[in-house]
Amino acid sequence: MNLKVSEIFYSIQGESVHAGLPCVFVRLTGCNLRCRYCDTKYAYHEGIAMPVPQIIEQVRQFGCDLLEITGGEPLVQEYTPALVEKLLGTGYQVLMETNGSLNIDRVDRRCSRIMDIKCPSSGEHAKNDPGNLNRLTANDQVKFVIGDRDDFIFAEQMLSRLPASLPLDRVLFSAVFGRLPVDQLARWVLDAQISARLQVQLHKVIWPDRNRGV
Ligand code: SF4
Repeated sequence: MNLKVSEIFYSIQGESVHAGLPCVFVRLTGCNLRCRYCDTKYAYHEGIAMPVPQIIEQVRQFGCDLLEITGGEPLVQEYTPALVEKLLGTGYQVLMETNGSLNIDRVDRRCSRIMDIKCPSSGEHAKNDPGNLNRLTANDQVKFVIGDRDDFIFAEQMLSRLPASLPLDRVLFSAVFGRLPVDQLARWVLDAQISARLQVQLHKVIWPDRNRGV
């Protein structure tokens, strides 16, 4: 049971409701989308095959109980659900970033699925799986990466389609880095009186010159 792994590292959680917390990251190789603003293109193909016990052994060495599976898109790999289950069974609090185009219920619901709803400026919003909206639980999180005003209006409209069980403070509005100023997005959120959570990509503030391993 091998997974192709791009990198494993220990850093500060830069996004999500856990932003600011130390976290171990397992970045898996491969993605089925090609978003215009993608900043992890190196994860499309680069990586090495690792059996699940070897991954567990590597993450164990960091001594941190919070762990995020990211990519790429983790759900393109067959054994990602098995890895998540094993990590949960080992006692980790597991988060998984996913682009929202594939069925999120392939992974255990005890894992907090941080699901993108792709906005139009990504070029990939037609790939959102509408069935995922009904699969979200109160343990999950939803993220809109917003690049312009049209994206904001799209995100605002999508809020009414989210399940009532998902608290709005687990809905994240994030600006496309280098494209939409965060203060502009903050203004739109305030003017629209949306109770979603504005987030900045904390790791990019802390390490502006690094694009791997953070
Ligand atoms: S889903 Fe994520 S990894 Fe895949 S292309 Fe989009 S931004 Fe990049």
